[in-house]
Formats: sequence, structure tokens, C-alpha cells
Amino acid sequence: MSRVLAAVAWPYANGPRHIGHVSGFGVPSDVFSRYMRMAGHDVLMVSGTDEHGTPIQVQADAEGVTPRELVDRYNRVIVEDLHGLGLTYDLFTRTTTGNHYQVVQELFQGLHDNGYIIAKTTLGARSPSTGRTLPDRYIEGTCPICGYDSARGDQCDNCGNQLDPDQLINPRSKINGETPEFVETEHFFLDLPAFADQLNAWLDTREGWRPNVLKFSRNLIADLQPRAITRDLEWGVPIPLDGWRDRDDKRIYVWFDAVIGYLSASIEWARRSGDPEAWRKWWQDPDAEAFYFMGKDNIVFHSVIWPSILLGYSAPKPGSLGALNLPTEVVSSEYLTMEGKKFSSSRRVVIYVRDFLQRYDADALRYFIAVAGPEATDTDFTWSEFRRRNNDELVAGWGNLVNRSISMAAKNFGEIPAAGELTAEDTALLEAVRAGFGSVGDLLAKHRQKAGITEAMRIVGEVNKYFSDQSPWKLKEDKARMGTVLHVALQAVRDCNTLLTPFLPHAAQQIHELLGGTGVHAPMPRIVDVEDLDNGLTYPVLTGDYKDGATWTPEAIVAGTPLSAPTPVFKKLDESIVEEELARLQS
Ligand SMILES: [Zn+2]
Repeated sequence: MSRVLAAVAWPYANGPRHIGHVSGFGVPSDVFSRYMRMAGHDVLMVSGTDEHGTPIQVQADAEGVTPRELVDRYNRVIVEDLHGLGLTYDLFTRTTTGNHYQVVQELFQGLHDNGYIIAKTTLGARSPSTGRTLPDRYIEGTCPICGYDSARGDQCDNCGNQLDPDQLINPRSKINGETPEFVETEHFFLDLPAFADQLNAWLDTREGWRPNVLKFSRNLIADLQPRAITRDLEWGVPIPLDGWRDRDDKRIYVWFDAVIGYLSASIEWARRSGDPEAWRKWWQDPDAEAFYFMGKDNIVFHSVIWPSILLGYSAPKPGSLGALNLPTEVVSSEYLTMEGKKFSSSRRVVIYVRDFLQRYDADALRYFIAVAGPEATDTDFTWSEFRRRNNDELVAGWGNLVNRSISMAAKNFGEIPAAGELTAEDTALLEAVRAGFGSVGDLLAKHRQKAGITEAMRIVGEVNKYFSDQSPWKLKEDKARMGTVLHVALQAVRDCNTLLTPFLPHAAQQIHELLGGTGVHAPMPRIVDVEDLDNGLTYPVLTGDYKDGATWTPEAIVAGTPLSAPTPVFKKLDESIVEEELARLQS
């Protein structure tokens, strides 16, 4: 057994999340964590909502609410959505907690004490009418390199070059169209080039990473520049240095505070568990492993910037928390598109998790993401493919096997029948299913979930073939043999159900019960309203007790266990849903 940290990307709390978001970080990290727990590892899965930064401030201003009111709203929405998907976070919290502020300030201070934070004067854009700083992404103008007229202050989307806002020709505010003024402003920068050699040496030791992540990271390291970690903004974590601490116009940059969330959430989890030091087992034990899950647009933060923060805090002199472990692996997914287009809330190319779960089961989406999601290449979600996978694979392949084996045993025996002598075919099937614990498990441990579920469904196919070949419905005259075939089939169903549990936990619990099982087979998270440990505010967290549940081993069914006629576990989707959903997209 080993300790495994599953560090899951932090969804930004400026709106509800769509299925593209959860296909990149949410579902894959849960499949992995569920498998690792079943295989006997001690998993700590943490994340939360990312709640600071200019976009939150801008949106709150537009809606006439405070940033806190805005993030309170979307924190709860996101917690409920992730709960609906059955994602087993040990703690899903948020970045506006007192605990998070303390941990962020501690890491800032530690980096500062070790000499990795540099003060610099830069030119910042400011709105003449409000006096407020305009962040780079809220300034638009003509690209000085290619002439594109809607380049952003940080980057030109046409030619891809990185820009500074004062380079733009005819700069204007995206908020109200006015021309910004440029004023000198002092900021703190993280000295990233100081970590280049250590980062390269660390990457040399990494095994099993997806090649695109390694290559992308090495290219980033070749071109590292100091990176600003503070902004002119009121909404965020205060800078913990004398002369800065009480200023209300300077805050720590949102990306710097958000990556520290993995550590602060682990510490909050420990403080809530009754053992405030418990987090150390995942962050300081040299044998502990840490896996970070995200979409590819966030690789830089996890393979370069967060490791730099960890290195700079841990040496030469470790901060008061002590030296911290680097990531074991950065597991990045590619993009999901929808009907051939990029997801876009503003252009309504979107389906929110909440709307999806109102009309379809969580496991139908989890299945699609596992088997057809953007694990290693960009992939497209289409409603017709979703329906086809659901009906042809989930319903006709797995659901039908569960249904016909249990209903035939219930009808003819009223219980799990005893097995007589096994034939070569019986034994071969049981062995093929048992081998799945090795093959599917190895793939899941290597983050090859698409291959893992494909292998599990291949085994389901073998059981279906056995069932058809043996045709127990033709054995009415030989009830002993019929009982043996059904016993073997039900044993195979039980073990296939275990193999599919990380992917389809809701269905797995139901099938466990249809087979006469009691208690928890696939544990589920719960939403708990908690009080902030430091400032008395109340907020919802996602948490749970995941110690109970099935283990990653075959388990013998018990002859004589009563069975009743099953209700179908998966729902067949009517052809009309495709047109209905496409009409919703266009409305
Ligand atoms: Zn350009």
C-alpha cells in the first residue's frame, strides 16, 4: 500500500461548469482515485473552487454584487454538480477560506525568505474613469506584430505571440471601450529561471508521463522568464510583507494562489479530520506519490510553476511547514469539443453538467468520457455518438447481460443457483474474467482509462458470448446444468461489475444490490455545510468516507442468495433526443 495524492484542477467559480470541463479533470481523477482505493492504496483526493482574480471582480461589478456573493453562488453550484457526478473528493473546498489565505501567505513568505521573489517596476494599464487597474486580458488593441485588430493585452490570438498591454496599437478597455492610461506600478515576480536546471533534472527522472506533456514542459523551461505573482486588484490574498500587508490595492495573482490550493486543501482536510498533521504523510513522506489532473491549457502551472514554488519553498532553507514533495506525474488531458465546435458559453455551444444530469444518468456521461473522452487527443462530443455508445454498448452490452442473467436466475431458481461440475468453457470464462483484474488494473494505474474500459467491455463481450453459446433458456430439461451456467454467468457479472466500478459507480452499487449484496459497494461523496476554521463563515464542501466498498479482487458469489426480478440499470435513449438536444444548442 502506498499513499497517493490525487490533486485535481480547481474549477473557476465564475459560472457553472460544462461537460468539457469535467471530462478533462473531474471524471478521470475520480476513476483513478476509485481504482487506487479499491487496490488498497491510501488516497487523498483534494480540490476546490478557484475564486479570486479579475474575471470574478469584473463579473461581480457587471452584476452589481460583491465578488464574495458571486463566488458563494457558483461555489455551491459547482459542488452540487461534482456531487451529482459522484466524484469522491476527500475534500473539495474553495480558495476564499481563512486556511487557504494562511497557507498561500506562508508559501509566499518562504519563497521570499529564500530569495526567489523579485520586486520590479512595470507599466500597468489603468482605467481613467474608475482609477482601477485594467488587467492584460481586459485590454484589446491592434497587434504590433501581425496587425490583427482584436489582440489581447497578454497575447495575440491571431499570430500567437505573447504581448504586453503597452505594446498594443490603439489600446482600449474591453469593459467600457475607453483608452487606458499606463502608469508605473510595483509588483513581485517569481524568479522562474533560477529553477531551470533543477526542473530539467527532475523531468529527467520522470517515467510514464504522456509524451506531449514532457515535450511541452521542456520547451517551457528553455524559455523561462520571471513571472508576476501580484496584481493591482482588491480581490485576492493580501501580500504578506511589511508595507504591503494592509494595502487594499495589491493582491497575490490568482494563478499563484490557486496552485497552492492543493496543499492548503490537504491541510484543511487534516485539520477537519482531527489530526492537523495528517497531511504530511502525502506531502513529505518520500514514498508518497502525487498525481495532478488537468486540461492541457494548465500544464505550465503543474509541470513548471508549481514545482518551482515547491522547490523554492523547500530549499535552501525550508519554510515553517517543512520541505514538500514534487509531483510524481502531471496527467493532462486534451480538449473535448461539442458537435465539432469549441465549447463556448457565450455562443451557446455548451451543455452544463447540471442540465445534463437533469436529463441523463451520471454514469452514461462517465461512460462516454472514459471510452470516448479527450484522454490523449482532442475528441468531439456529439449527441448521436453519445446515444449510440449508451444504447449499443452500455445498454445492449453490459446492461442486457446483467438483466438477462439475473432475471433468468430469479425466475427459474429465485436465488443464485449452485454450480455443479464445471465444463472447460465454464472454467475458461471464469479465468478470462479474473485476468481482467490484472489487465484493467494495470491500465488504470497508468492513466490509460480509455484502454482500461475498452478491456473491461471486451471481457463483458466474452461473457455475453458465453451466455449465448450456453443458451441456458434451452436447458429447461436439465435444470442442474442450467443452474451451473447461470451460476458461472452471475459470477462473471459480479466480477465484471467490480472491474467497471471505478467508471460506473452508481450502476455498480445497484448491480451489487441486484445480486443480493448489502452495504456499500461503491462509496459516494456527500455535501456538508461547514464553518470556516478561521473566520466563522459557512460554506459547502464535498467529502466522504471511502474506506468501505469493494476491493479490486474477484469475490465468490454465494449460492442460495435470494434474487428478485431486476429493474434495468441503464436507460435506452430514444432517437428523438438527438434532435431535441441539437435544437437546444441552436435556440
Ligand atoms: Zn498578432
